[in-house]
Amino acid sequence: MATNHHAPHIVIIGNGVAGNQAAALIRRRDKECRITVISAGALLFYNRYELPDVFRGRHDWRDYLVHTPEYYDDNRITIRRKSLVSDINAANRTLHLEHREEVRYDQLLVATGGGGYLPEQLRDSLPHLHGFSTYRDAMAVHAALPKGGRLTLLGGDMIGLDLGRTLVETGYRVTVIPSERSFWPHEIDAEEQPRYLAALETMGFEVFAPASVEAVEAAGKGKRKGAKRVLLEGGKSLVADVVMPAYGIAPAVDFMSASGVDIERGLLVSSQLQTTRPEIWASGDVCQIWSETHNAYRFYYGWKNVKKMGEVAARNMMGDDTPFKSQVDESLIITKKGGIHSPFWEYQ
Ligand SMILES: Cc1cc2nc3c(=O)[nH]c(=O)nc-3n(C[C@H](O)[C@H](O)[C@H](O)COP(=O)(O)OP(=O)(O)OC[C@H]3O[C@@H](n4cnc5c(N)ncnc54)[C@H](O)[C@@H]3O)c2cc1C
Repeated sequence: MATNHHAPHIVIIGNGVAGNQAAALIRRRDKECRITVISAGALLFYNRYELPDVFRGRHDWRDYLVHTPEYYDDNRITIRRKSLVSDINAANRTLHLEHREEVRYDQLLVATGGGGYLPEQLRDSLPHLHGFSTYRDAMAVHAALPKGGRLTLLGGDMIGLDLGRTLVETGYRVTVIPSERSFWPHEIDAEEQPRYLAALETMGFEVFAPASVEAVEAAGKGKRKGAKRVLLEGGKSLVADVVMPAYGIAPAVDFMSASGVDIERGLLVSSQLQTTRPEIWASGDVCQIWSETHNAYRFYYGWKNVKKMGEVAARNMMGDDTPFKSQVDESLIITKKGGIHSPFWEYQ
């Protein structure tokens, strides 16, 4: 079918679970509208939860794609890759891409997720740290970790621990330096933490005593020239092949700062996922949703929640009035074998 240039233009920023779920539902409900998905990344939608599989020999990026390239053509969803949105002009319903192009929208869905949170004192150590957010990051970690090598997780959120359990199972060594953000997004009291840390040891992790990380620097010579040294408060230090901050996610909202939309840490949305501007909606890790029960704006993480948010925002953009309800029981379980299992590790 030819594109109808007078049809409403729905623009979705973000090529993750939330953005793709929304695009699919909008197309099912409206055969006419134009849908554009804009993404900073180079790849089509792929399953980030499966990235630890690079340590099980799955190295081809095509194996991680959720849809075939034809899916987007068949559903007339235009994908703009490697296109970073730099700002939004809500009054004119336009957004700008970093390469200066202007895109007009009738309705906008912001589904930009988040990036790894890095404490202020570690900003200068960034060149010595690895992330694990993209396929490219995952392959870089794989290349930097020799067989049986050591990865040190700072903090130890559920994303890092998910990678960690695969590494332990595949013959690598994993150290966790705990902090108050260990097990994020689970909220574990300080008195409760030792029980969960002991469960990590049962799973094969090495757990360091909780310590304040001051910096990470290059440490290697000769064969281990990529090695890093983690400097701890009090003068202690430890060496690893890869050091990864795992302190949870900070919502990707910088480009929204002049948009006029209310932001606390995430984009503030009603339970219908509408921002403080009626034509701008948000879903996924980027948004903070009003909860009547908590009388506060809250983040809801996990694959099932994020997927549901994409669906709910899309329905409401099409004229429904559906509130978001959490799909995830947020408790962290100690299993019969004495390890941990998290609902945030589940996806489908
Ligand atoms: C390896 C890995 C494992 C994970 N495992 C878990 C887990 O076990 N449990 C859990 O709860 N969560 C996990 N997560 C978190 C997971 O990212 C989220 O729950 C979920 O994927 C968020 O989906 P989203 O659609 O909101 O955003 P994302 O999947 O983060 O997608 C955001 C998209 O927005 C794009 N974007 C961002 N800013 C801009 C911009 N300015 N311009 C254009 N595009 C932009 C990005 O390129 C990306 O396409 C994991 C994440 C990773 C990376």
